Amino acid sequence: MNKHERQSTQSGFDIERAAREEEVEALIRPSQEEAEAAVRTLLRWAGDDPEREGLLDTPGRVARAYREWFRGYEEDPIAYLQRTFEEVEGYDEMVVLRDIRFESYCEHHMAPIIGKAHVGYIPTDRVVGISKLARVVEAYAKRLQVQEKMTAQIAACIQDVLQPKGVAVVIEGEHHCMSTRGVHKPGVSMVTSTMLGLFRSNLGTRKEFLSVIGNPVNRAS
Ligand SMILES: [Zn+2]
Repeated sequence: MNKHERQSTQSGFDIERAAREEEVEALIRPSQEEAEAAVRTLLRWAGDDPEREGLLDTPGRVARAYREWFRGYEEDPIAYLQRTFEEVEGYDEMVVLRDIRFESYCEHHMAPIIGKAHVGYIPTDRVVGISKLARVVEAYAKRLQVQEKMTAQIAACIQDVLQPKGVAVVIEGEHHCMSTRGVHKPGVSMVTSTMLGLFRSNLGTRKEFLSVIGNPVNRAS
């Protein structure tokens, strides 16, 4: 989406939010040099010498990797859902995108959370391109996160923008702060879910969704 298109689809709310984000960015975002200096500090903290040959380019690489890992801060998930299709021949059943792989980072340790997201909604009168649901997941995942918060954010975003009859989001994530440190329990995944609208009020709808995605919620309980 180019800049012009994006401006034309922004609501007043988005513009306000974008202005606030720019303000925050101007206040707190350090320069590339400052970020690299911080990485050198962490290298020394780990017990190594940032001046040795193998580590000379590491701070620059880490700073660039951070840009990629945390690019969600530069993405607007709302914008992804603003282009919709209305010619759906009255289709009003569940639309489900399952097994969306994501990589996120826990906000407590900055360690990876890797897993799968399953997203479903029941359209009212319009649908979105299916890849857009994956982009919404991606935009929230590529930030410092708490899995519960990410689950709720994805559901709320779809609910607010598309206004469907219901939204369901289930996330299964392995937290590397738990598998590579602390209690050292690899292979354990945490399952979180947010059910809105018909997925919350109608047991049959919820069951259908859970069976389509392979019942991670039931397996976990
Ligand atoms: Zn953690």
